[in-house]
Amino acid sequence: MFDIKKIRDDFPILSRKVYGKNLIYLDNAATTQKPLCVIEKISEMYSSFNANVHRAVHFLSDASTNEYEAARTVIKNFINAEKSSEIIFTKGTTDAINLVAFSYGERFIEKGDVILVAESEHHSNIVPWQMLCQRKHAILKSIPINDKGEIDFDKYIELLTEKVKIVAVAQVSNSLGTINDIRKIIEKAHEFNAKVLIDGAQGVQHFKTDVQELNCDFYVFSGHKIYAETGIGVLYGKHELLEQMPPYQGGGDMIKSVSFAKTEYADLPLKFEAGTPNYMGAVSLGEAIKYITQIDLENIQTYETELANYAEEKLETVENLKKIGTAAKKTGVVSFQLGNIHPYDAGMILDKLGIAVRTGTHCAEPVMHHFGILGTIRASFAFYNTKEEIDELCLGLLRVQKMFH
Ligand code: PLP
Repeated sequence: MFDIKKIRDDFPILSRKVYGKNLIYLDNAATTQKPLCVIEKISEMYSSFNANVHRAVHFLSDASTNEYEAARTVIKNFINAEKSSEIIFTKGTTDAINLVAFSYGERFIEKGDVILVAESEHHSNIVPWQMLCQRKHAILKSIPINDKGEIDFDKYIELLTEKVKIVAVAQVSNSLGTINDIRKIIEKAHEFNAKVLIDGAQGVQHFKTDVQELNCDFYVFSGHKIYAETGIGVLYGKHELLEQMPPYQGGGDMIKSVSFAKTEYADLPLKFEAGTPNYMGAVSLGEAIKYITQIDLENIQTYETELANYAEEKLETVENLKKIGTAAKKTGVVSFQLGNIHPYDAGMILDKLGIAVRTGTHCAEPVMHHFGILGTIRASFAFYNTKEEIDELCLGLLRVQKMFH
């Protein structure tokens, strides 16, 4: 059973006040709040298990390594990877994309090759590819979106040729909430032997993701957007691809042996985890995933869909509100403009009412260029938000309008 009261009690920060008002946190696409079990797990780790992983023979190091590797298994099961060695811990989504762009790119991308990304991508799924293209004299092309914020599939097909080596798209757009049809995108790319990286930063926390069923080549996401700590993320890659890729960084832990004549690299996944990893973050991610698994992602999805539909309808009643991004399939992200009020001004006033929303370009400037705007106000929901909070948001927006007229 989905008990919203109990769920909200699991997140201590939700009961705090901001400027004397109840906190209404609607910036979940930027980062999510943490449940008590994750906070307690981190505290327990520092109180009882802290030692560097994969290093020493002593008790604490062994315990800490076991926790770290157990978290890897939790993540493997969560996204249904075939092997734990396909799960690489990174600093986050950005770090994971840079890893692939650098390592896969170094080995496989040549002059004149084409990389496709959607026009709606987050900067972190554009810039690393742009940098790769500059290094390799390859060509970055964008797949256009339509005016609803959906990837234009016909244009995508037109762009696919044998020259395309990588297609990198988000499962869900962070600025618009569009759920992209990644299954179809992957299938088509594979017909041209292109590899596909899916940026799951805004998808993995909302619905069940099965990387084997999707048949994506790479899948990346961030811990902090799925109720875990910051500074931890995941790169999933197909084993045979990761095997062929050179290490991204050199250092301790990623080697079997080192001499000045020759260094032999460690097997997967450690080959890509140079230096002391963020084992605390990894354990927190394992714990966060156990938490949402116990609530059940299907229950979460059902609740979040109801909440998103409510928000979409309710916001329609706010005069002069123009939604940006009206895709047929969306998560709980609503981007909008309020008359000619600058999003930043609206955000500041909402903040004083205890309502946290994001304003600006959401690290997706090409999306803003597409719509010819400077930015939006974005409300993004998690499964601990409520319809009452959405009502408060609408009242807050009316207050903003009154102040400006
Ligand atoms: N991709 C998408 C779709 C995102 O929403 C974000 C963050 O907002 C990122 C990538 C970058 O994530 P991080 O900053 O955790 O690396």
